[in-house]
Amino acid sequence: SAGPVSVFSEGWLKRVYEEKPVKNVRSRFPPEPNGFLHIGHAKAIAVNFGFAKHHNGVCFLRYDDTNPEKEEEKYFTSILDIIRWLGFEPYKITYSSDNFDRLYELAEELIQKDKAYVCHCSREEVNRQRGGPDNRGARYGCDHRKRPIEESITEFRAMRDGKYQAGEAYLRMKQSLTDPKEGNPQMWDLPAYRVVKENHHHRTGDKWKIYPTYDFTHCICDAMEDISHSMCTTEFQQSRISYDWLLEQLDIKVPKSEEKGPMQREFGRLSVNGTILSKRRILMLVEGTTIEKKNEDGTVEKKSIPPVVRGWDDPRLFTLVALRRRGIPAQALLNFVEELGVTDALTEIQSSRLESSIRKHLERTVPRQMLVLDPVKVIIEDFAAEDDQEITVPYDPKGGIPGERKVKFSKEVYIDRTDFREVADADYRRLSPNKAVGLLNVAFPIRATSFEKDENGKITEIKAVKAPEALAEKPAYIQWVDVTTAVPVTARQYNSLFKTESPNTLDWKTGGWADDLNPNSEIVFENAVIERGLKSLLKEHTLNPNGSSDDLIRFQAVRTAYFCVDVDSTEDNIVLNQIVSLREDKAK
Ligand code: ATP
Ligand code: MG
Ligand code: MG
Repeated sequence: SAGPVSVFSEGWLKRVYEEKPVKNVRSRFPPEPNGFLHIGHAKAIAVNFGFAKHHNGVCFLRYDDTNPEKEEEKYFTSILDIIRWLGFEPYKITYSSDNFDRLYELAEELIQKDKAYVCHCSREEVNRQRGGPDNRGARYGCDHRKRPIEESITEFRAMRDGKYQAGEAYLRMKQSLTDPKEGNPQMWDLPAYRVVKENHHHRTGDKWKIYPTYDFTHCICDAMEDISHSMCTTEFQQSRISYDWLLEQLDIKVPKSEEKGPMQREFGRLSVNGTILSKRRILMLVEGTTIEKKNEDGTVEKKSIPPVVRGWDDPRLFTLVALRRRGIPAQALLNFVEELGVTDALTEIQSSRLESSIRKHLERTVPRQMLVLDPVKVIIEDFAAEDDQEITVPYDPKGGIPGERKVKFSKEVYIDRTDFREVADADYRRLSPNKAVGLLNVAFPIRATSFEKDENGKITEIKAVKAPEALAEKPAYIQWVDVTTAVPVTARQYNSLFKTESPNTLDWKTGGWADDLNPNSEIVFENAVIERGLKSLLKEHTLNPNGSSDDLIRFQAVRTAYFCVDVDSTEDNIVLNQIVSLREDKAK
């Protein structure tokens, strides 16, 4: 098709289309509503929704809600919200549970075809049938496998009607368990239905005591929604055979052909190093946890670890709600996925690569502002009435981003504490007694004359004079904020949560991870100040965009970092989140 070259018009995704080049492309994104989406899901969303969009097709959002023990309402809302934030709109929102009646009928049909049976074997026994712990032993079927069709029908109805407790009965597909030549464990009589103990379902209520498995549900729901291309991650590669097998038994697909019925293809997962994506682990960070340490003398010590982050959207996490709150533009994430490309290989990415993608996007999209994180006051003693001015400063000195603001300049300015030294060495190019420094956007440099300290030795005030003659020395320039119009803000800077670069290798079982926490994962500047221009940016936007929009205020704080206004901010209590540093070497 025409249009710019994209990840969809070449390589792996192009071949997937060419394997089934239909007019009406229908895809789906099928999350299990049992947690918040993470950065890996951004790839799955971009692939499935993007593929449909590229081919003028449609993409469903299908909540794969077949596990009532793990699902919660809040996840449903958040998933849809994040998809919209990424710029996609589902063609239809569906639920696997919409199909529970039909799935049940098809299960009976499968039994009637002698392709499924009710089995009462224990988990251990089933493992033995499947060749033991390493799956290499001889495989065999149990007596239930040979039971008459009518008996399985009766037992399956008994399962449905509540005769069995969880674990006492399964519907198993009669695949190739007993064929010694079948090497794919996905073909060794997988369960199709199970009895669930806590079986109240958020949509079907108490109607069902049995629930279909992923392997039974997914391909059938794909077929019922007329999905043409069903793309998932490579851990489902072995499942492709069972996906096709089941649809063939139900006459939905034809062996060795992709003409009829949905086609499953698998792409590589995205993972970013240094990030924790496992729900269980993030939960420990969010809620805190109690660990039990066994001492050598056999006694057990309990140690409680307090919460490490403020919630699932804490900007230090890599859930999509967290990345959004941190200020990462949705488009930057999509660009990142595009840059990486889509193949069937696992994509393990350095987090610095993600950051550089984000930086590249921000660089050409957000205005500049002057922010001082740790302010110290400078009084320009010979500042004259006519020096008082409003300087017009463009949002982007290179002109790429339209707009400008008026920056007030008067006798007193704040500069950052790190831009002043009591004693300068020869290489030092910022402010110091008898040394001049330029103030960004101001016509003349200033030279420090003296300074004052409090009883702790902390500098409280610097006196300076105008130093136009220093222009000839080509001084360095620093950011500053006018004291009379400064807006106080709280600025948060973020670093990795763990000291190690590979937190997934930490000890997550017995709590060893707690010893590796980075005490500086969040640095808060309570007394930061920013130029009044932020207020006009605020006026152009709505505060608290209620989560679903991408209308965050982002800017480059010159010489500092990229920031956004946190969603919790109010008119008089503005909180800033650092999105990324300005350069890679400052990232850690
Ligand atoms: P997790 O256990 O990490 O939450 P999951 O696979 O259980 O992941 P689902 O809700 O089932 O999560 O995922 C919905 C879709 O997102 C699936 O098609 C899955 O393959 C895809 N997906 C999940 N994790 C990744 C990842 N890291 N990279 C790319 N796609 C992913
Ligand atoms: Mg899953
Ligand atoms: Mg999962």
